[in-house]
Amino acid sequence: MSFLIYLVVLDFAAYWYHRWQHRFGVWWELHAVHHSQQQMSFWCDDRNYFIDDFLNAAFLAAISLFIGVQPSQFVVLVAVSNSVQNVQHINVRLPFGPVLERIIVSPLFHRRHHAIGYGHEGTRYGCNFGVLFPWWDMLFRSASWNKKMEPTGIRDQLTAPEGEGRE
Ligand SMILES: [Zn+2]
Ligand SMILES: [Zn+2]
Repeated sequence: MSFLIYLVVLDFAAYWYHRWQHRFGVWWELHAVHHSQQQMSFWCDDRNYFIDDFLNAAFLAAISLFIGVQPSQFVVLVAVSNSVQNVQHINVRLPFGPVLERIIVSPLFHRRHHAIGYGHEGTRYGCNFGVLFPWWDMLFRSASWNKKMEPTGIRDQLTAPEGEGRE
């Protein structure tokens, strides 16, 4: 199988991993560390709870072994994925346009995922879970294309009555 197919298969797995991080209570408490950042930046993607990082890496490595990814390819896949994810967290209005933003996750698309009241709420426990490609969000109806800039963070950080004012 080619590199691109591996990239797509692993991204599909990462989409579901990310949805479960929002769906299940304890998992969300780990992932909330990533969402607690109130200022988006290039380095935001690297802030995660270590157990969650470990679980995520183990999950993707197990799938990679299962589908036959070579170790040398795995390193490149992880490097490509992490670089794209860093770009998604930069704090700029990068206009991707209606076509490109549906091909690859843009900073605006991922910012919506970090928006308080949108990224982690509602019947799907949030929106815009896609890691590299927004296709899975479009397919499973969890995409939001709303470009309105909302405060980023988690609800707990809001003061009463909306939240508990936790830092
Ligand atoms: Zn998330
Ligand atoms: Zn993020």
